[in-house]
Amino acid sequence: MKRPVRQVAVLSGKGGTGKTTVTASLACYAGRPIVADCDVDASNLSLLLQGTPRSRHPFIGGLKADIDPARCTSCGKCEDHCRFRAIRSMKVDHMACEGCGVCQLVCPEGAAVLHETVSGEIFVRDTSHGTVVDAEMMPGEPNSGKLAARVRTLAMEEAKIQDSPLVLIDGPPGTGCPAISSVIGVDLALIVTEPTRSGGHDLGRVIDLASHFNTPCAVIINKHDLNPDLTIEIIHECQRRGVQIMGLLPFDEQAGEAIISGLPLPESAPDSPAEMAVRAVWEKVLAFLEGIPDGPSITVR
Ligand code: SF4
Ligand code: SF4
Repeated sequence: MKRPVRQVAVLSGKGGTGKTTVTASLACYAGRPIVADCDVDASNLSLLLQGTPRSRHPFIGGLKADIDPARCTSCGKCEDHCRFRAIRSMKVDHMACEGCGVCQLVCPEGAAVLHETVSGEIFVRDTSHGTVVDAEMMPGEPNSGKLAARVRTLAMEEAKIQDSPLVLIDGPPGTGCPAISSVIGVDLALIVTEPTRSGGHDLGRVIDLASHFNTPCAVIINKHDLNPDLTIEIIHECQRRGVQIMGLLPFDEQAGEAIISGLPLPESAPDSPAEMAVRAVWEKVLAFLEGIPDGPSITVR
């Protein structure tokens, strides 16, 4: 019988908290999990977990209009009705077109037609730390939440094919559509924050998001020692809300050097203070997952 696939999403309220560094490190400890980079608007996990794409998948993200010049009588109705000002001189500017379909509705000649468009690409890469599924969204394209959901689906399919017990999700910062696509239905949302006013504020928003979808969540405070007073405030707020603090990561110059070197922390700075703290987080994550009925058996390196 195949093992159940558990899903852990790493999220943050704001960018730059160390979320991707944590995700890449957890991938190393987990022993070749499937990793889904759902931060589709600024995908960068592959900078740390490098690998050549094994397969590529076009992402059909939405609809765009086009005008058939053979049928168009230049009546101008479509241009008058397009509230996005995407039609000029009977030509559609695809960057401005929102695919609303009004031009198709008002066109008396059937000349304005909507069609599906490729708005991104999904890659499946084999790396030395497991298979990574990531994506690139084309500039100005909508539906990044839909793309993040598609990345997760492909990652789950890979997990089933490879009989992998764990999908690790590198979610986006914030609480927008890709964050929603990353948090729904996961077994644990790990929220990485930092002891700053904005970090604490935005953490609350992500906890709200996870709570809304009944997703268990826990918090990691990165560089906790840079502002002990705010760290204590965040801990108290998490305690008040019943959210577990799963790790306190120290400020560590070696962690910064790891990012510059393009290697995950366990490879570039093993046994550094930050690396040991992230490893301790992984052990707590593992204990949490093992506590779920039918939890996975994952080897800790
Ligand atoms: S409404 Fe139709 S016929 Fe009129 S200008 Fe637009 S595309 Fe051409
Ligand atoms: S689909 Fe909507 S946004 Fe696009 S050109 Fe037609 S009316 Fe304008």
